[in-house]
Amino acid sequence: MRILLTNDDGIHAPGLDVLEAIARQFSDDLWIVAPSEEQSGAGHSLTLSRPVRLREHGPRRFSVSGTPTDAVMMALRTVMPEQPDLILSGVNRGANLGDDVTYSGTVSAAIEGTLAGIRSIAMSQVYEKEGMGDTVPFAAAEAWAARVIRPLLDTPFAPRTLVNINFPPRPASEVKGIRVVRQGFHDYARGSVVEGTDPRGYRYFWFGLHGIEQTPGHATDLEAIQDGYVSVTPLQLDLTHDASLAALAGRFA
Ligand code: MN
Repeated sequence: MRILLTNDDGIHAPGLDVLEAIARQFSDDLWIVAPSEEQSGAGHSLTLSRPVRLREHGPRRFSVSGTPTDAVMMALRTVMPEQPDLILSGVNRGANLGDDVTYSGTVSAAIEGTLAGIRSIAMSQVYEKEGMGDTVPFAAAEAWAARVIRPLLDTPFAPRTLVNINFPPRPASEVKGIRVVRQGFHDYARGSVVEGTDPRGYRYFWFGLHGIEQTPGHATDLEAIQDGYVSVTPLQLDLTHDASLAALAGRFA
């Protein structure tokens, strides 16, 4: 099995080493093509206004000076002589849950793989506190990822779907299990904008991350993580809201 590994935290991120160790449990035919710098929050963006550079770091290990989507495109079109059987994206430093998945470069790399018709899985390690940088503990992901991925390898994925996995912020031994749940939503407008003054005296704004806020009882990925479970959520590329089609069409009849 040929596996492409990528992420949005960049080629040097600790979570990519975690991902490689996870993938090694399934195959030795691993290819890494990841952004050269952190691209968290890049979503599904594609670099069009400037060239991207490809750099070889070792055998089957490359970085791309662009977004996660750029990295997957380069992997599939330029770097890999044959298409992968599986794309794993992550393990992200931080949650990709609920409404946040469309901001996510981690999930978007898996979306790009899905567009190419390749089985694609995104993985993220949730953590409790902000400001941990590269010290985010990946223990739950390390211990649970293979258990979650293995059944997914011979499960048929419906066309144009991917799987989004999040690991809860607790020691591996305290993870309660695995829940397959729908994508959640945030109950409250959240997010922080930190304002400051740069060394040259100019005002700046910096978007901060935010905690999980939702009322329990929704049976979503957010709730599963809150309850200490690994969340597994199938996502679809088609964002159409079917129930609104007829009503909207009626307004233009
Ligand atoms: Mn990230």
